[in-house]
Amino acid sequence: MSNRRDFIQTLALGSAAVTLGACQASEEKPENILDGPIAISTWNNRGANSAAMLALTTGKTVLDAVEAGARVPEGDPNDRSVGYGGRPDRDGHVTLDACIMNSEGDCGSVTFLEGIKHPVSVARLVMEKTPHVMLSGAGALQLAKANGFEEEDLLTEDSKKEWEAWKIKEEYSPVINIENHDTIGILARDNEGNLSGACTTSGAAYKMRGRVGDSPLIGAGLFVDNEVGAATATGLGEAVIRVCGTHLVVEMMRQGHSPQEACKLAVERVVQKNPDYQSLQVGFIAINKAGEYGGFCIQPGFEFIVSTKSGTELIKSKSYIT
Ligand code: ASP
Repeated sequence: MSNRRDFIQTLALGSAAVTLGACQASEEKPENILDGPIAISTWNNRGANSAAMLALTTGKTVLDAVEAGARVPEGDPNDRSVGYGGRPDRDGHVTLDACIMNSEGDCGSVTFLEGIKHPVSVARLVMEKTPHVMLSGAGALQLAKANGFEEEDLLTEDSKKEWEAWKIKEEYSPVINIENHDTIGILARDNEGNLSGACTTSGAAYKMRGRVGDSPLIGAGLFVDNEVGAATATGLGEAVIRVCGTHLVVEMMRQGHSPQEACKLAVERVVQKNPDYQSLQVGFIAINKAGEYGGFCIQPGFEFIVSTKSGTELIKSKSYIT
């Protein structure tokens, strides 16, 4: 993935796009309301937003858009927290978690999936082709292979080298903010205000074998309610799971809070429930049907990226600790 500290460059969305000049990460505007199709992703996932906007502006569904977006970092070997090239568990296995949810409230999820580069597409398969919501491990792999997904080694040389260096001390200490957490959660809204979302990750680096975080859990890493809004999360999955983080954000929006306020309230809940909050990071982003968006996190450093037909903006999230 490209450096999140970079300035936003121009967006290439084909003929439907308007190209904006470079702009710097900025503080959130007090009123974050946008018209038309919108894609919003955790971190500086600009390639994901471009793919989602391309889908949204070329007649694809909002579900297609979030899947297309999530597949970008999944396929990028330089993104060390998602898909191919993701950091392995402590035993050297890349194990992937992903989920997807559409405007009708259908959802699908895979956990502890190995050897498949695009877990978000397997999650969509679970949603569309099985009577279940979640498949795990060997069963998820079996479904993927039966549907033409190629099994491949996802541990790149770079990730392997890092893991080998880590093994010298074998200390499990998730980095608060930056390099350990590039999970992508992506939310999109089409022209009619319909919402979908997806979330995909290789999880916490050097986790215990079999550990599953928040990202594939509906209501924790992702939640969509087309009557209200959608939210997704990044950061320490265990802390997000404890408060059903994204379900909480959406319920706050249902009670009338803006996406920005809803994310803040959910972060405050995480803080309240985790006495060690000063040593962990959690960030939420959210969008509502009206096209209003927001984000909030515990520690400074989390960013999210918002795209419309007229361009893209990288936004520094407000934080509980300033
Ligand atoms: N939430 C993810 C997990 O705990 C990690 C991340 O956001 O990068 O697995």
